[in-house]
Amino acid sequence: MGLAVAYQLARDGHVPVLFEADDRVGGMTATFDFDGLDIERYYHFHCISDHAFLQVLDELKLGSKMQWVETKMGYWFQNRLQPWGNPLALLGFKGLGLVAKFRYGLHAFLCTKRNDWKPLDHVEATGWIRRWVGEEAYEVLWRRLFDYKFYHYSSNLSAAWIWSRIRRIGRSRYSLFREKLGFLEGGSATLLQAMRNDIAAHGGEIRLSTSVNRVVMAEGKVRGVETAAGFEAFDKAISTVPLPFIPRIMPDLPADVLQKFQQIKNIAVVCVIAKLKKPVTENFWLNTNDEEMDIPGLVEYSNLRPLDQHIVYVPFYMPWEHAKYAEPDEVFLGKVKRYLKKINPELQDDDFIAMRASRYRHAQPICDPGYLEQLPPAALPVQGLWVADTSYYYPEDRGISESIGYGRALAQKAVA
Ligand SMILES: Cc1cc2nc3c(=O)[nH]c(=O)nc-3n(C[C@H](O)[C@H](O)[C@H](O)COP(=O)(O)OP(=O)(O)OC[C@H]3O[C@@H](n4cnc5c(N)ncnc54)[C@H](O)[C@@H]3O)c2cc1C
Repeated sequence: MGLAVAYQLARDGHVPVLFEADDRVGGMTATFDFDGLDIERYYHFHCISDHAFLQVLDELKLGSKMQWVETKMGYWFQNRLQPWGNPLALLGFKGLGLVAKFRYGLHAFLCTKRNDWKPLDHVEATGWIRRWVGEEAYEVLWRRLFDYKFYHYSSNLSAAWIWSRIRRIGRSRYSLFREKLGFLEGGSATLLQAMRNDIAAHGGEIRLSTSVNRVVMAEGKVRGVETAAGFEAFDKAISTVPLPFIPRIMPDLPADVLQKFQQIKNIAVVCVIAKLKKPVTENFWLNTNDEEMDIPGLVEYSNLRPLDQHIVYVPFYMPWEHAKYAEPDEVFLGKVKRYLKKINPELQDDDFIAMRASRYRHAQPICDPGYLEQLPPAALPVQGLWVADTSYYYPEDRGISESIGYGRALAQKAVA
């Protein structure tokens, strides 16, 4: 989002300076050297509805690097790998009654047809799903997805927010029977590099490994920022860091505004990436419902983007304050080995070429009913100061496209 803000400002003739705490741009989309392969720390796929993302690609002449693929989904349930993600797969699914299947399918279908999220804004998500699909389908197909992503927050999430996630995937299809997901040749790095170059070409500046420690404000106006190098004057500041950081870097905000930021909660992720000699399955996305696995699913990325080896991401989402988050990486790597070998018993220890775990403490805001109303407006009551993160495009889920679209619009408002 920060890159999108700077990109828009620079193209509009302003002189943005982007401060990035990390040693690379991209935040959650950033890549790393995984045993010789430059790849995202967290998996990324694109949907046909990702308009803001596709528009930037066009502007940067990267449209031809976008590839669309017919992907498959699976469900690991009752020690069996089953096809998933289309009406035929639902009908043939073993372990669920016919009425439950019908109710589940109807709910998913109607979610893709709905456009108005307002009636769902103040509705609690698990109750909403239960009323539609019934207890049986909820237990088999939904409960673990909530439990292993949101833990004790599961019982108070916004139905509008969950609906938008169902709709995004549900609408990215060739037809009712064929799913269509996209990847960028070279991964997110292709876009990140092009945005960096574009910002520089239009006179903007990016400072890596430069954390903003404080946004300085006085007499109701922004004065500048403080970094390890000292104070630097600016007449406008647009923050796109995760909202829970705001009280720390903007302690001079009015108390009622600070209090709102203090209430925001985020889910953390420990995301394991594995490089394998053999595929685990033929699916891109595999949902899991297994007593022995504390994950909602896994992503076999190389079944979307062809790579020389098989790449699987296994995300362990959890509230950062959960005891599990303090466990060392080895615990998560060990679990992933066990889970993948259970799903595909042909996998042997020496099929695992490399494994790594990446952590992001603010991987996703926890959006409870009426979430947007709890946030201070992005234009803060300090002249020249704007704040946003992925929360601000609720009920849309965090996503590259949404962050780009929101960031660009924010940049235009901030200088209007
Ligand atoms: C496991 C996982 C899977 C995902 N899958 C997808 C997907 O398939 N498709 C999709 O579209 N999206 C996906 N996303 C989401 C996507 O990555 C995010 O929506 C997007 O990166 C959000 O970008 P952002 O700039 O809003 O926030 P962030 O990426 O969180 O960026 C915030 C930036 O602020 C920097 N920062 C923090 N504090 C400071 C400070 N004091 N000073 C300076 N800089 C600071 C951070 O270093 C970071 O670079 C996924 C995310 C995760 C974690």
